[in-house]
Amino acid sequence: MEVGDIKKPIPNTVEGLRELLAELNLDTKGQKKILKEKLRKHMRKATTEKKVAESQQSDSLKEIKKKRLQPFDYYLCFDVEATCEEGVNFDFLNEIIEFPIILVDSNFEIVDTFHRYVKPSKNPTLSEFCTKLTGITQETIDKSASFGEVLLEFEVWLNQHSLFKENSSVFITDGPFDIRDFIEKQCDHSHIIRPKYFTRPWIDIRKLFGKFYKCEKRNINGMLAKLDLTFEGREHSGIDDAKNIAKIAKRMHEEGCILDTNCVLMTPPYKLRK
Ligand code: AMP
Ligand code: MG
Ligand code: MG
Repeated sequence: MEVGDIKKPIPNTVEGLRELLAELNLDTKGQKKILKEKLRKHMRKATTEKKVAESQQSDSLKEIKKKRLQPFDYYLCFDVEATCEEGVNFDFLNEIIEFPIILVDSNFEIVDTFHRYVKPSKNPTLSEFCTKLTGITQETIDKSASFGEVLLEFEVWLNQHSLFKENSSVFITDGPFDIRDFIEKQCDHSHIIRPKYFTRPWIDIRKLFGKFYKCEKRNINGMLAKLDLTFEGREHSGIDDAKNIAKIAKRMHEEGCILDTNCVLMTPPYKLRK
């Protein structure tokens, strides 16, 4: 029989029992029957504690197994806002007015943020609808830099983190629109050749979510609701949308999803800027 972690038979003599109790730092007073009962009680307690410790260890092993090693070092959660008019949708010549990135590592912990508002060049006056939708005011836009200037600052920031260089990196967006459509339209407005990092395959989390959870595609709020999570911040604020994309990605990572590219530009070749 084992007493806790001491592998010894339970002695049959009073002296033996007292010796063992003393070894276990337990009270040695009482008759033989009482001494035996004390040892049995200790044994039951030690067995329960051992079982709890073992099950906790296997839970944490399960967690480690569930969290997959991800294919990229860094993930850039990206969600632009753009000028818009009510009911016009994608026929509108949208210009980017907010350019936010939440940078997360391969454990989906937030590492840094790049966040700029952008002054539109074609139509610098925001519609009332746009301000209501995005929360971005005319005043904010008026004092912001142009898209070209913001892109240069962004590239300095990318270099500071060695992104798309020594550190393998990938954008995550909600749907294909940000990189496929908004960046395309804005590069056109600003007479900028699409930067190389915006020509790489990326992750459309909406599509990945549908595939991983075997459900229909849904927007940020819909994805959060399915995960019993709530939207933090203001919907259609680019920086808050990006934060919530990061939150969804983190949960998917914890639940064993491999976050790999699933979206490519369909109309190459683009003229590339070095
Ligand atoms: P989102 O990331 O969903 O906030 O949307 C990005 C951009 O898409 C917005 O800044 C708008 O330019 C445009 N957009 C989104 N929803 C609408 C809508 N209901 N009507 C017109 N444009 C919209
Ligand atoms: Mg969006
Ligand atoms: Mg948004």
